Amino acid sequence: MGRAFGGKSSVLGRVWPTLGAMGTANASRLEQDRVLLLARVPFGESSLVVQLFARDRGRVHLIARGAYRANSGYAGLLDLFDSLELSWHRAGQAHGALGELRAGALAVRRKHLAQDLASYGRALGVLELLDLAARVGPGDRALFERAEAALDELDFGATRRLDDCVAVDPELVALRFDLEFLGALGLAPALDRCASCGRQAPLPGTGLARTAFAPAAGGRLCQRCAAHLQSEGMAVWDLESALLEAAAALLAARDREALWALGGLPAPSPRADSQAEAHAGTLLTGGPGSSGRKAPAATLSGPRLAALGDWVDRFLEHHLETRPKSRGARRRHAANSSLPNAPHRGGPPRPSASAN
Ligand SMILES: [Zn+2]
Repeated sequence: MGRAFGGKSSVLGRVWPTLGAMGTANASRLEQDRVLLLARVPFGESSLVVQLFARDRGRVHLIARGAYRANSGYAGLLDLFDSLELSWHRAGQAHGALGELRAGALAVRRKHLAQDLASYGRALGVLELLDLAARVGPGDRALFERAEAALDELDFGATRRLDDCVAVDPELVALRFDLEFLGALGLAPALDRCASCGRQAPLPGTGLARTAFAPAAGGRLCQRCAAHLQSEGMAVWDLESALLEAAAALLAARDREALWALGGLPAPSPRADSQAEAHAGTLLTGGPGSSGRKAPAATLSGPRLAALGDWVDRFLEHHLETRPKSRGARRRHAANSSLPNAPHRGGPPRPSASAN
């Protein structure tokens, strides 16, 4: 019972509990929740320790005894990216105590994520942000549900690509979740108002082509506030206004049809419904006056999507004070520092001016 974790403690010691506190598990009450796995580490000969983001209970650490035994009910259950319904004995009162998994069932299997490299990387990024947000205590149902929606969309895209069908760029899905994550933490960038004085920004497409933006101030700035804050030494970025409008459009694209339209694709029908597919096709190709949802003014792809990704990355890094591991290789292609008029150090590179 009293064994320590051993070799992996250098990585895990900061957050992982000790096993000495598990003895009281049987005396504690049973809890149940829908969860996503954040991490899993083999323990001992046959057990598994899992870190979870539980929808209503926040961060939970559990031991699944005998998980690796052939007759275990947990064999094949505790996988990353799947939604699970678990019940467990709550951990004891000791700091860092582990709960004990008692029963589990699969709620949503997302089995294609591991087969499509781009989707897999973005899905890991979703879990990494959840891991950064997860705290012991009450969960965050809204954030949990947006994470599930992101994983659903990534898995759906992976399934499509594996079948050689077109699918929305996984980067678009990941970026939408990044922005939703910032919102859940109360860090959503001000996109339609000056973050400093609250003045309403010009309507999309009617203002200046470029907008001042200061992460430390919390978003976009009007010219007066930008000049004032810059004179006080605050780092102010010079962004293409359309990028902020694109971020707002991405946040508003809550369903598949809207997201795919933003990516320049007609949404596939959920069933093999040729009429629906044809209808979706008219939304993309039809001119003004075609029926149905209005196509976005500009789709998010190519250099524009890369520029948005770079900007969101930098905004996240500013507020998290760390670069999430999944970011390093993710958007290298986005940076094109040879573009003219690159902003000062710390600002995102200027995107191509031809995107609109
Ligand atoms: Zn202002």
